[in-house]
Amino acid sequence: MRLLLVEDDPTLRAQLRVGLVEAGYAVDEVDNGRDAHFLGDTEAYDAVVLDLGLPLVDGLTVLKRWRDAGRAMPVLVLTARDSWSEKVAGIDAGADDYLTKPFHMEELLARVRGLIRRAAGQASPVLRCGDLALDTRSGRVTWGGQALTLTSHEFKVLDYLMHRPGAVVSRTELTEHIYAQDFDRDSNTIEVFVGRLRKKLPHALIETVRGQGYRLAPK
Ligand code: CA
Repeated sequence: MRLLLVEDDPTLRAQLRVGLVEAGYAVDEVDNGRDAHFLGDTEAYDAVVLDLGLPLVDGLTVLKRWRDAGRAMPVLVLTARDSWSEKVAGIDAGADDYLTKPFHMEELLARVRGLIRRAAGQASPVLRCGDLALDTRSGRVTWGGQALTLTSHEFKVLDYLMHRPGAVVSRTELTEHIYAQDFDRDSNTIEVFVGRLRKKLPHALIETVRGQGYRLAPK
């Protein structure tokens, strides 16, 4: 899953980046509203963490522009003050959730997980496809109760597919959602990760849809 992190405070931004990357997210970060607006308008994000007090263009304006343009990714707003009016303005501008500074990293991670899950139409924190289960909180993957050991990239591919069971996901889409913008992307590596996943997972769980991509199908 790929996130856009928008925060102008360099210390807080660095802390958030470290926490999010450790949690397995691909993270693009910016420190002002103008760059935030551009990236959110042109790149594919599974969620955005958006500070409201930003240089160049404020966070509320950025959010309103995204929503006016039909950008639907989930947005978690960071508010500097414990001000009810700022929360109301954020939610009314199209935010899906908010956090008031200061906050614990664990709370931010839980809220981001929840937003991504909900956006994919998943209510439970444990994603299931037949006997395959992925716990989004712990990152634990099991088949019929038996733990599977996956590399971080294998996990990222499976996590994305498990959020969209039955949907056809192209290699390009997978590439966009498991790598950050500055990463040297190569969609051929997706094929390698899927190949390795198939060896670890039961027969034909990940189908190839010719010319279109991959589909996770319960067996
Ligand atoms: Ca700020």
